[in-house]
Amino acid sequence: MIDVERIKQNIDCRDLIERDLGKPKYRSNKYSTYKCPLHNEEKGYSFGVYGDPWVCFGKCGHGGDAISWLIEWHNLSFQEACERLSSGDLPKLQQPIHTSKNRVSVLSEPPDLEWRSRAEEIVKQAEVNLWGEQGTRALHYLKEQRGLTEATILEPRLGYIQGDYREWKTLSGLIVPCGVTIPWYADQMLWGVKVRRAAGQQRYQQVSGGNIKGCPYLADTIQPGLPLMITEGDLIR
Ligand SMILES: [Zn+2]
Repeated sequence: MIDVERIKQNIDCRDLIERDLGKPKYRSNKYSTYKCPLHNEEKGYSFGVYGDPWVCFGKCGHGGDAISWLIEWHNLSFQEACERLSSGDLPKLQQPIHTSKNRVSVLSEPPDLEWRSRAEEIVKQAEVNLWGEQGTRALHYLKEQRGLTEATILEPRLGYIQGDYREWKTLSGLIVPCGVTIPWYADQMLWGVKVRRAAGQQRYQQVSGGNIKGCPYLADTIQPGLPLMITEGDLIR
């Protein structure tokens, strides 16, 4: 069993990320900022790095802990990232992949089994929360403001993590934003969990370590020969 908390105690995201990105544009005693390297930001410095977590407040909205940084930037698996961090054998700096505009396309593969079972726990708990007492307001929001029916809430297994929109919880060893959870299934596997927060510049965040790139939401429901309607928002059904 990987002890995620223990690994993270010994690592400061600011040091880890400075190693990959170089000197930050701005540094206070709490956080550092950069141009976001994940969406090749041109104007502004939306990428904020705290001791834990790091987060892009701009276009891509990615964020997470030290482990998810290694997964995202160095294309490691969850397990590899944990091993690298605990042994201190960090991956070599790899400039070319992310610095130019022609980024190498990321493989469409679901996260590993360990991540999936951890995230599955979170999805289950969030479902229980949504239909329980603490989910009253969130459920009301989904039905009344977004116009979803109980069936369209149940079927895709929407859920709820209670907490302030600025809060990030550690559940089953993963970093979880608070809000309405939207599990991302394809090929009968969980690829990621999006979270729609109640407020904040970037409403949609993700549970750390997911990989939903190249994976259309609810792709399994697409059937050959039947009409397909594609909408812009995950909550529009
Ligand atoms: Zn970004």
